[in-house]
Amino acid sequence: MRYAEIIVDLSAGAVDRLFTYSVPEGMEIGEGWQVEVPFGPRSLEGFVVSMKDHCDLPPEKVKAVRRAVWDYPVILPELLELAVWMHERYLCNLVDALRLMIPAQMRGDRVRARTRRVAHLLLTDGQAEKFIEENRRAKAQIELLRRLQQGDLDAAGLSPSALKGLVEKGAAVIVNQETRRTPTALKREERTQDPVLMPGQRRAVAELTDALERGGGRFLLNGVTGSGKTEVYIRLIRRALELGKTAIVLVPEIALTPQMVSWLHARFGADAAVLHSRLSVGERYDEWRRIRFGEARVVIGARSAVFAPLENIGAIVVDEEHESSYQSDKRPRYDAREIAWRRAEKHGGVLLLGSATPSISSYMRAMPGVRKENALTLIELRERVKGRPLPEVELVDMRGEFERGNHSIFSAKLSAALRECLDSGKQAVLFINRRGHSTFVSCRACGYVVKCGQCDVSMTYHQSENVLRCHYCGSELPPPKTCPKCGSRYIKYFGAGTQKVQEEVNRLFPDARTVRVDVDTTREKDAHEKLLERFRSGDANVMIGTQMIAKGLDFPHVTLVGVVAADMTLNLPDYRSVERTFQLITQVAGRAGRADDPGRVIVQTYEPDHYGVRLAAAQDYRAFYHQESAFRRRALYPPFTVIARIVYSAKDPGQAKTAAERAEEKLNAYIDESGMRQDVVQMRATEAPIKLLRGLSRWQVFLKMYFKGDLEGVSREMQALADGAPPEVQAELEINPSNLF
Ligand code: ADP
Ligand code: ZN
Ligand code: ZN
Repeated sequence: MRYAEIIVDLSAGAVDRLFTYSVPEGMEIGEGWQVEVPFGPRSLEGFVVSMKDHCDLPPEKVKAVRRAVWDYPVILPELLELAVWMHERYLCNLVDALRLMIPAQMRGDRVRARTRRVAHLLLTDGQAEKFIEENRRAKAQIELLRRLQQGDLDAAGLSPSALKGLVEKGAAVIVNQETRRTPTALKREERTQDPVLMPGQRRAVAELTDALERGGGRFLLNGVTGSGKTEVYIRLIRRALELGKTAIVLVPEIALTPQMVSWLHARFGADAAVLHSRLSVGERYDEWRRIRFGEARVVIGARSAVFAPLENIGAIVVDEEHESSYQSDKRPRYDAREIAWRRAEKHGGVLLLGSATPSISSYMRAMPGVRKENALTLIELRERVKGRPLPEVELVDMRGEFERGNHSIFSAKLSAALRECLDSGKQAVLFINRRGHSTFVSCRACGYVVKCGQCDVSMTYHQSENVLRCHYCGSELPPPKTCPKCGSRYIKYFGAGTQKVQEEVNRLFPDARTVRVDVDTTREKDAHEKLLERFRSGDANVMIGTQMIAKGLDFPHVTLVGVVAADMTLNLPDYRSVERTFQLITQVAGRAGRADDPGRVIVQTYEPDHYGVRLAAAQDYRAFYHQESAFRRRALYPPFTVIARIVYSAKDPGQAKTAAERAEEKLNAYIDESGMRQDVVQMRATEAPIKLLRGLSRWQVFLKMYFKGDLEGVSREMQALADGAPPEVQAELEINPSNLF
């Protein structure tokens, strides 16, 4: 008799352990298979974690596996092992890690019938409007049509009569999921020729392929914007394929980097697969199967594509490695860079992190003196391809504009440059960071920003209570009526969003054809690509956007880039705000002058002397790194320390508070008992920066400790505390969270 040790597909601490089932004679299953098993009165799906030949339980207690859900192991051995590691490392249920390894639609009732059917709309937007016009009384059909415009839907969940109506009228079809779809992003491009490498690129490629041939390595590619990093990735991947290996390319968000997808597809054709959340249900499933069965050997995708079921991985590239989107903000709170690191090591492949503005923590690993097991090898590309100059960045001091009576959101210089750009038939990009929209209080006359006395981060204005609060330590201040520094009455919360900028451009430049790219204009499927296409085709000549437009875009006719308010991110209540500002300015500036026209970049700021702004303008990453890491070291911020917290949320504020205070007490005891006191910088229970979220009051136990401390021990203890919270309180542990609200 054979037995299977199974983890059931229920995310709950109580079932986060292996259950033993017998395998009926003739059923061919093994590790990594997805199966259906009886569980109490129910039937559940689960994953086989291991197999064995004997079982100590009495035979009548052991139930049999009902069936295999799929006729092949859905989780490869290496990924199974990775899930077990994640279970330990990120303190999640094992099944939470396993769930990341297969598309969601392969789990649960949705796949019970393997002939899953998907409804697909056949009409273009124009045709759909006409259809609605002509079928006005068919309310249910119209409603369904609207939903299908957002993407394919599982036929099983839809109104049968409405669907039948649409199908009969030729507006929709029901497709069997087995038919493969190619995501729209991959359809266009033809295969193209390789350009001749620049000397810097050639050296980088040689070093990387050398490592690949010798059994792997870890690298940080720091190349200025427009230095041709993508081409380096492509050559490395090409070599991996030649050696019979596979590759993964991670990008911050697929929708934001459509060009990367089309370039890779142009070079690797059907060898490339794309995995990301905006694909329709059917597309994602198809792509995953192509990868699992070795039909696609290069995978491009956002964070979760790091779990792609590839074997024999030769290279994992993480583009724009500094982006916070690589850190998952849901359980399991994994870091895709860390997973990439581990997978590359397991396969003897190359890990390549790339960025013009690496994260402080990655760059630190590339500096001398780092222990070998933590180190990255630095490769630099200091010049743009074809000897193109880096764009010249001009800083405009907005305090001076204000003094001269210009209260508009555009400086005289930016207005004039925009006028000139439009007159010469070129294109402009205007960048404004919405994340900082109306949150911090600053003086329009002198640029003074209200900061917390203990934390050196700006205070956040809470309109409902009319108070300024520090998001780190919780201290409060009434908002000042006049500027504490210069006495001006023009001190108010900062806020000029993308919409405002677009209105201003349209008002001041009636001949401008604007396109706006932000979360509001890109909600619908493919909306983002359509907007970019309008700009690429020249249909629009001014693009206004948020950080969405800062990354990876390559538009040859852009000669002017304007950063409307550079300080917006500088004063976010987060120790990473300077780093983020530096990254944004550098990245946005990098959008200019990418073809033969020289680029001009104008950055409006109230703090032209701030090192984050000044060094971004000089595009001097290394100098920035030295300043910023010195600041982090002094102020005891990561990567010199680690931040962890448990957030307690409850309907009743008293309960959240009590839970946090109890945990603080216990954690204090643990710290003393385990002799770690000297490693802990700060630990206390406080109200969370956002006290009320979705109707729940929030408290936290906040911990900052030195990097060298026993983080594993502490986090295990904190997880135990979180798990032991009373039932009426939700508790969530976060280690190095990307946001501290
Ligand atoms: P980065 O990611 O470093 O900002 P990209 O990879 O986007 O730079 O490359 C910038 C531009 O240069 C792209 O249009 C790319 O096609 C082009 N390019 C890259 N390498 C070469 C080369 N060796 N010769 C000619 N053009 C190149
Ligand atoms: Zn002032
Ligand atoms: Zn503070």
